[in-house]
Amino acid sequence: MNLILLGGPGAGKGTQAKRLQVTYKIIQLSTGDMLRAEVASGSELGHKAQKIIDAGKLVPDDMIIDLISKRIDRADCKRGFILDGFPRTVGQADALDRLLAEKKLKIDFVIDLHTDEEAIVERITGRFTCATCGAGYHDKFQRPKVDGVCDKCGGKEFSRRADDNAETVRARLKAYHQQTEPVFAYYRKRGVGEVVDGMAPIDEVTKQLKEVIGKVAAC
Ligand code: AMP
Repeated sequence: MNLILLGGPGAGKGTQAKRLQVTYKIIQLSTGDMLRAEVASGSELGHKAQKIIDAGKLVPDDMIIDLISKRIDRADCKRGFILDGFPRTVGQADALDRLLAEKKLKIDFVIDLHTDEEAIVERITGRFTCATCGAGYHDKFQRPKVDGVCDKCGGKEFSRRADDNAETVRARLKAYHQQTEPVFAYYRKRGVGEVVDGMAPIDEVTKQLKEVIGKVAAC
């Protein structure tokens, strides 16, 4: 089963994709995580991407398409994958169609996590992750049970994304409206698009996603 999770910045794509990968034993492929790994490794691509990410803009399509194409070829994608943060432009969606056709694969369905823009800046600027295991938290909505200690691994170091500040979030929302919103319409026309309320509590969103996946997978 191959699916795409769409939605604006802070819609909860990463959080939900991590849960779905455990339930369905398919792999989360986050282009944002891949780019941050390139930045951390100091690669040439990472160097080029960093300035663009910090400005809240989208990196050029060809940079991303090559990364994702190579990643899909790896053995852990054989059971299926969840694309998180890709495709983000109609050009990327077209390129994805072509590369999947070459690999004799297809997207089974696309889910849009719908969000209310007013709440998004607060949601994004409050989030942080465990530096050891990557578990996600939020200053207001999901604090660790013991302050300063990760519930999952006991780690005591946490990090925040550099692009999760209010100014960059506004640029990311603009890029989302201009370049990514049309992507959902692209899939909807094909009859593979479903909408889930991304503003519901985290467990409720997971429940709704599983219902949609169950319904679509049964068809
Ligand atoms: P994310 O972790 O998905 O919020 O992505 C963080 C940043 O990485 C974005 O604001 C973009 O600068 C860049 N990025 C991630 N995925 C893509 C993509 N599919 N196309 C272009 N830029 C991307």
